[in-house]
Amino acid sequence: MSNNGLFSTGTLADWISSKLLLSGHNNGETLRNNLVPKEIEVFTWRARKKRLPVLFELDKRGVDLNSVCCPLCDGDIESVNHSLILCKQAFDVWCKVFEWWGRSGTLLLQVEDLLSDTGYARSDIGKSIWQAVMWSCSYLIWTNRNQKVFSNKCWNVPVALNEIQVKSYEWIAKRCKNKSIDWHNWLHNPQIYLL
Ligand SMILES: [Zn+2]
Repeated sequence: MSNNGLFSTGTLADWISSKLLLSGHNNGETLRNNLVPKEIEVFTWRARKKRLPVLFELDKRGVDLNSVCCPLCDGDIESVNHSLILCKQAFDVWCKVFEWWGRSGTLLLQVEDLLSDTGYARSDIGKSIWQAVMWSCSYLIWTNRNQKVFSNKCWNVPVALNEIQVKSYEWIAKRCKNKSIDWHNWLHNPQIYLL
C-alpha cells in the first residue's frame, strides 16, 4: 500500500509479485524474468494459471454472462488460449513476431508452452531475452484486447508488430545488463541476441 493508503497499479503488482511469485507457490516453475516490468511478470503468472478475466473463465466462476463467445471475432469461446493465441488477430500478430525472429512455422499453440518457451536460444541470457519477448507480446495482445472490448479501439497487425518491437526494446534493452542491445539489430537481426 502506498503512503496515501491507496493501492496504485504498480504497488498492487509489487504486492502480488511478492506474495505469489516469491512464496514457493510456483511449483518450481521459473516465473521470474528481470528483463520485463513486474506488471508483465504478474500478467504472465495469471495467464499460465488461466486467471485472466476472459469470458470462459468468468463463466466458470459463476459470473452471469449473455455469451462466452470471443468479443473480438465471435468465432469461438473466449478462453485464455483463444484470446492470447488462437483469435485471428492474435494469431496473425504471433506469426509476424515469429517471422521477425526468424522462426516461421514454429508457433506454439498452448499458452503454458508459449510462455515457458526458451526458443532456440543458446545462452542463458538469450533464453531470458526470448522469454521476455514472448511475455511482452502476450501482454500487449491482452492490453489491446481490453482496449478493443472496453474502448472499442482498433489494432491491426502492422501497428501491433511495431508496438511490440518498440515496447519490447524499451523494456528489455534497458534492463539487460549483460548484453548491449542495439535498436537497428533488434529490428532487423534480433537472432544475434539469442546466441
Ligand atoms: Zn476471437
